[in-house]
Amino acid sequence: MLFSELGLGPEVLRAIEDKGYTQPTPIQEQAIPLVLQGRDVLGCAQTGTGKTAGFTLPMIQILASGRARARMPRSLILEPTRELAAQVAESFETYGKYNKMSMALLIGGETFSEQVKKLDRGVDVLIATPGRLIDLFERGNIMLNDIKVLVIDEADRMLDMGFIPDIERIVGMLPKMRQTLFFSATMAPEIRRLADAFLSNPKEVTVAPPASTAETVTQALVVVQEEDKRKALRHLLQTEDVKNAFIFCNRKRDVAILQKSLVRHGFNAGELHGDMPQSKRTETLEAFKQGEITLLVCSDVAARGIDVQSVSHVFNFDVPVSAEDYVHRIGRTGRAGKAGRAFTLAAPDDGKQVAAINRLIKREIPLISIDGLESPELSEEDSRGRGRGRKPAAAREERKPREERPEPQAREERQPREARPERQPREERQPREERQPREVHVREERQPREEHAHPRELAPAAESRRADPRRDRDRDRGDRRRRHEDEDDSPVVGFGDHMPAFMLRSARPRPVENVDPPQEG
Ligand code: AMP
Repeated sequence: MLFSELGLGPEVLRAIEDKGYTQPTPIQEQAIPLVLQGRDVLGCAQTGTGKTAGFTLPMIQILASGRARARMPRSLILEPTRELAAQVAESFETYGKYNKMSMALLIGGETFSEQVKKLDRGVDVLIATPGRLIDLFERGNIMLNDIKVLVIDEADRMLDMGFIPDIERIVGMLPKMRQTLFFSATMAPEIRRLADAFLSNPKEVTVAPPASTAETVTQALVVVQEEDKRKALRHLLQTEDVKNAFIFCNRKRDVAILQKSLVRHGFNAGELHGDMPQSKRTETLEAFKQGEITLLVCSDVAARGIDVQSVSHVFNFDVPVSAEDYVHRIGRTGRAGKAGRAFTLAAPDDGKQVAAINRLIKREIPLISIDGLESPELSEEDSRGRGRGRKPAAAREERKPREERPEPQAREERQPREARPERQPREERQPREERQPREVHVREERQPREEHAHPRELAPAAESRRADPRRDRDRDRGDRRRRHEDEDDSPVVGFGDHMPAFMLRSARPRPVENVDPPQEG
């Protein structure tokens, strides 16, 4: 099929031609005509399949007629991370260059004033992360009642990051008569219920089995003692033909430690994680894209959707806690049909996590050994607290008991809602300044759930603060949002304490219209 057969206008087709695309990808072939017909779309597609163009191209076409009014954007795209939002903004610039369109990117970590100025001029497309959008809405800088098209991208990631209450709130501010496009890499039952709540009679398109790893990625597993991991990584970096690589750590602080260690050993390495200021994040990613930095040590903030062409390698310095993250991490290489290599370093007691990955990808990651390093057996037993006599590595010693750690508890290990301790009333909670710093401030820090609660839940607190000057309240809310968005690679929180209304409804079965060509990369 050709792009010209999809119903797109000449300006958009010219931009596609300039970009050098000859054929639409399967998701584009399916989604573009549906979007142009004004249908709601439920897309099950990973990044790398061309899904961004799948919604941006027809949106440009739809928005080409009509004009935006000041502070009243005509379309809204919600992204879970700032990097993804910036990437979508780039796509609009690329594909919309022959259409007169105005766009605003509303992401945390950047000053409000520029964003407000843009909104004042009127924008056709608003691309935002949820927290910053709510901030601007609460400040009265934006009205959402003219939104004609809503895109919720990476819905499963939004769920993982605890953004669903925000999304519900935002959707509640939008007109009921609108077109909604909803994309997710996976279609877990809770995602499907969410889609049911937000979409109206959608067409469903699926382009890749949710857990597929690209055929173009050669994978290997190295089991070493925890204390040998850095040595193992250096060995791989020296012996592999590494042009550039993402190196994933599970924890933000390990990102910084590993990056410094690599630099000390003469490697050209940068770092990327959610605790860094946005300007630094953008700068580092750009330097990596431009080849000025060869190795990017990162947390999972970089695992999803970051589109850097021709990344030769991915190294998992830690086995990811969630098996799905493995698929996303290694998907940073082997893109667009190019060959890529992915190595995972496992410590002996990572057996459970490795087994979960093998189950998900339906194959065993081939095991390799490194000369001169001990290759211990993987154990699926939970060794914590059993005193197996293994000399604890520095990194392990640092580890806190699970309850204290900043990482997500595995979903199934989390406390059921009923078993969670009652929330403290707001007045009794520790004031923000007194709270523990980030590194030791584990579950509490994740309590954006409490602070980030649904408007209904916030009502009593708002009541008690009626006497406060509005400025303070806004600033406080701003802090809250920003802090939350800074944690966009933070642990899985799901719905937290919030039980959205739609979860209580049963999911409606719907006919599936599958398109099932292989994943593009
Ligand atoms: P996405 O899944 O939207 O992140 O896109 C992944 C990559 O595929 C991006 O680098 C796009 O530029 C590229 N891409 C999107 N559509 C096409 C197409 N029709 N032909 C070739 N490359 C494409």
